[in-house]
Amino acid sequence: MIQQSVTEVKGVGDKFAEELAPMGIHTVEDLLFYFPFRYDEFEVKPLAELLHDEKATIEGQVIGEPTLTFYGKKKSKLTVTLQVEHYAVKAVMFNRAFVKKQLQAGDTVTVTGKWDQRRLQITVSQFKKGKAKSDTPIQPVYYLRGNVQLARLRKTMKEALQEFSDEVEELLPERYLHSYKLPSRKDALHQMHFPENHTLLKHARRRFIYEEFFVFQLKMQLIRKQHREATKGNAVKYDSKAVKSFVHALPFELTGAQKRSLSEIMKDMSSPYRMNRLLQGDVGSGKTAVAAIALYASVTAGKQGALMVPTEILAEQHYESLVKLFKDRAHVVLLTGSVKGKRRREILSLIESGEATIIVGTHALIQDEVLFHSLGLVIVDEQHRFGVNQRRTLRDKGLDPDVLFMTATPIPRTLAITAFGDMDVSLIDELPAGRKEVETYWVKEQMLDRVLGFIKRELDLGHQAYVISPLIEESEKLDIQNVVDLHAQLNEYFSEEVGLMHGRLSTDEKEDVMKRFSSNEVQILVSTTVVEVGVNVPNATIMLIYDAERFGLSQLHQLRGRVGRGSHQSYCILLADPKNDVGKERMRIMTETSNGFELSEQDLKLRGPGDFFGRKQSGMPEFKVGDMVHDYRALETARQDASELIQSNELENNPEFKALRDVLKQDAYLKGQILD
Ligand code: ADP
Ligand code: MG
Repeated sequence: MIQQSVTEVKGVGDKFAEELAPMGIHTVEDLLFYFPFRYDEFEVKPLAELLHDEKATIEGQVIGEPTLTFYGKKKSKLTVTLQVEHYAVKAVMFNRAFVKKQLQAGDTVTVTGKWDQRRLQITVSQFKKGKAKSDTPIQPVYYLRGNVQLARLRKTMKEALQEFSDEVEELLPERYLHSYKLPSRKDALHQMHFPENHTLLKHARRRFIYEEFFVFQLKMQLIRKQHREATKGNAVKYDSKAVKSFVHALPFELTGAQKRSLSEIMKDMSSPYRMNRLLQGDVGSGKTAVAAIALYASVTAGKQGALMVPTEILAEQHYESLVKLFKDRAHVVLLTGSVKGKRRREILSLIESGEATIIVGTHALIQDEVLFHSLGLVIVDEQHRFGVNQRRTLRDKGLDPDVLFMTATPIPRTLAITAFGDMDVSLIDELPAGRKEVETYWVKEQMLDRVLGFIKRELDLGHQAYVISPLIEESEKLDIQNVVDLHAQLNEYFSEEVGLMHGRLSTDEKEDVMKRFSSNEVQILVSTTVVEVGVNVPNATIMLIYDAERFGLSQLHQLRGRVGRGSHQSYCILLADPKNDVGKERMRIMTETSNGFELSEQDLKLRGPGDFFGRKQSGMPEFKVGDMVHDYRALETARQDASELIQSNELENNPEFKALRDVLKQDAYLKGQILD
């Protein structure tokens, strides 16, 4: 049985099994599905085509006697001169003194190693007597841990395949294999570990990429279906006439994209299932406006609506704008960590009695002491800052309201359908008319004087500026030192008021400086990235970012989104001396792209999916074979197939899917649920 311990494989004792464990290999099956992360091919190329410092394979004839030198304890260096084409190439082998005896002038040898173009020298990692095979083998390369040696792993793999591969069950019905021309699971498995040639390997990989994506999509969609079924019975009866009149009273006409998203949201609210929807839209695209309307709809249905945001500053801003917007249509309250004492008790009781109909706050909202009267809708702003855990907390409190997640981090479509495969997605892909694009410049640090001069002129026009201080990764303390120093410097330079903002200020201090910046008592706000999300000061026209190369594209885009919110032309200045190509590429993309979605696709390409949300909040699925970006089409196909299969009910009933069903049932979320 392949589910048995890996020690069932011939030659694997307890000791080797222990060494394999850190690689995630416990069972025979784990071993069989421990795939190479890369394949090396040893193809002999003409010297002219070899790249300096890259791995190369060359074939040549030994000239003269190899020289052997010893140094240190037991260390040796063997230098063999080879004639390759018309050149004398030196092949250097370390600690392989024994090879000397095997070589005579005139022998043909094939060596693989790192090529030094300037010295015409190769540092040999693999050596073979004789000519290179014309059909060069493809060598799988595995991630190895500890003492595990490649040769041993390969030998064990070969054993395991011989003994156990007949037990590897096919997961996909024959017709799938047929229509996508995919090899069987067993055949593909052999090719993954011992590829016979290019073509067979390609198809084997194709097969596992599809399988992996298909299983993943099935899980996500089943979870979604399970959610829906479990939450029947919460149709919200909102007053559509009142909602219409509220929309009508807004100072602007909704954009087409806002209307579309709104109607998707309202449909979810009035359906008998709980809403689990992601609202995506670039900064300033008008998500908050849509959220406000949805909250209002909830109020007209006699339910409470909550808006959760990541920071207190944002909570306050939202609170103020909602109070203005709703006037006497709703009773809006603010609940954050810094609402304390008597005031807090008052607000808690307003929430519990149902008098407060719209509650704005930070994650303080989901603490135990907060009892809602009838929570119908929760809107979570900047969802990636709220973990999965917070979502669950709400559910655990016995509250299963409609939930709308909003994010201004444009998530590439590719990621959205995987990371958020268990959610519905609405997209605001259109900005309100008449917005001026922010002009973005990348300048080197030695131009700082000119930049400051430029800022001065903008300030003279009565505008305001944000200055984001250098970022020192992983050290809040140093970040704060930086921002304090920078504040002092700029305070000296400018005659205008310069405010200081960072995460260590008390809430009162933060609130105070934000208020003074909003009301233009402070003209320049020097800050760490805490201003990143949501802050809205339309009179600010300059965003200056120090050390811009240290920020990710999405973050830079968020920061840039703080300006360009009014009618004046705004500017984003990136101060950066990037040391590497990725950094330079980022700066270039920022200056050329203002569309958040385009930018995030580019970011994804530069950083890879794992890093997209930053390490801390990653939570991205990790695929063994597939790459969400590169294999995007397979992902899309798998998604559609999964969706059709689930709608057809065949997964539950058709014996063709038994093996697949068993695999899905092993998933913790799906255990004992929908498939039984
Ligand atoms: P987001 O939350 O997506 O960043 P907001 O909802 O805060 O965007 O909207 C940004 C600004 O645009 C706000 O000042 C808002 O009043 C305004 N706004 C929103 N929708 C529209 C619209 N359809 N037309 C004009 N202005 C709008
Ligand atoms: Mg907003």
